[in-house]
Amino acid sequence: MTGFQDKNGVLHADDLPVPDIIAETGSPAYIYSAGKIEENFNRLQNAFEEILPGDKQPLIAFACKANSNLAIMSLMNRLGAGSDVVSGGELTRSTLAGIAPEKIVYSGVSKSIEEISTAIDLGIRQINVESGSELRRIAQIAEEKHKKANVTIRFNPDVDSEAHHKTTTARAEDKFGLLRKDVERLYEWAAGQKWLNIRGLHVHIGSQVTKVEHYRTSYERLADLAQTLIDKGLPMDTLDLGGGIGIVYRDENAPDIRHYAEIVRDTAGSLNVNLMVEPGRYLVGDAGILVSRLLYIKNNDGLHFAVLDAGMNDLMRPALYDAWHTVRTVREMTDAHESYDVVGPVCETGDTFGRNRKLPALEEGELMAIMCAGAYGAVMSTTYNTRPLIPEILVNGNQYAIVRKRQSVQDILEYETVPDWLNENTGTR
Ligand SMILES: *Cc1c(COP(=O)(O)O)cnc(C)c1O
Repeated sequence: MTGFQDKNGVLHADDLPVPDIIAETGSPAYIYSAGKIEENFNRLQNAFEEILPGDKQPLIAFACKANSNLAIMSLMNRLGAGSDVVSGGELTRSTLAGIAPEKIVYSGVSKSIEEISTAIDLGIRQINVESGSELRRIAQIAEEKHKKANVTIRFNPDVDSEAHHKTTTARAEDKFGLLRKDVERLYEWAAGQKWLNIRGLHVHIGSQVTKVEHYRTSYERLADLAQTLIDKGLPMDTLDLGGGIGIVYRDENAPDIRHYAEIVRDTAGSLNVNLMVEPGRYLVGDAGILVSRLLYIKNNDGLHFAVLDAGMNDLMRPALYDAWHTVRTVREMTDAHESYDVVGPVCETGDTFGRNRKLPALEEGELMAIMCAGAYGAVMSTTYNTRPLIPEILVNGNQYAIVRKRQSVQDILEYETVPDWLNENTGTR
């Protein structure tokens, strides 16, 4: 069994009962299923294998900002994935996870001199460039090193992916990428630079895209631009198609992954280039849960609050994006006819996981699970309210490992100091 299912009346992670794990690790905690991640990866890869010819198989570069735990990244490496990173820190993680430089791409609107320098030293597959200034800076750093930098240019196709307004990235007014005429101009310039190896184009239209048809227009525009540049005699060996494929959190239609592969074939399949994609959420989103203990039940004039020991600092998506996460009891959900607002302990009204949720009559002390928390969960957590970061646990069949241990309050305080002048008796008063 892979993923999260009921067996003998209780939620399991793969073959292990969730309460058995939490008995040893404490709550709250993230639990991931290695089998589920593998299943998601294989489903995507199989769709490409069925629809696209052998020489057009895209490199699947895991957008590791979705879940950059070293164990998860090592698993991705084992599966054959590359990585899409957005910081020097994620570059370090990719290397530690064993991902080969020729499978690493570096995206993001703000790369520091140090980060660019590291990327060039490592000789990664490509830096996805977001502006003319960045391209000139890369060329300069590469020249100083006398080492060629591999680059692609991120194209903003001016489409609306109908994702959440905070995760739509490819409208002309969004901060990402460059518009067509600027891409053409910069591409030609880059092709003439001795220390730049211009490899192609990149596009990424947004996140949690459930209607895959939204990819068609942007990929058509990308392919058209690529053909124009090829016709000018410019070098082009890569089209990076980005990520963003959505998952089912609630009642969305599951994205049709074969249809997605068909769109890739129809739009980019006839160009003589290597393809790559950058899924994040799709690979890990439903492969993780956040387990939390119900500390208190309180009733305000008929409104039932279920107060958990996990908060918005552990899982920010509901507070940040009004995102829906299914909340359930760890015991099998029978007779779910009571209504609860499920909230955390943080001193913010936004610290609410769900309102008016239908649940069985709850008992204080029991375990609850917040589903589909494998992407943009642990990676976005903070220590707000001086709440230490919680553990991450990776289950594989009937075994599990703590892949990030629980932080302590002492760990947090270690980085803080009180200056001497505040310790002196005389003080400033
Ligand atoms: C965030 C991001 C992704 C992954 O997005 P998902 O919605 O998790 O698939 C891919 N590419 C780039 C450039 C990104 O910034």
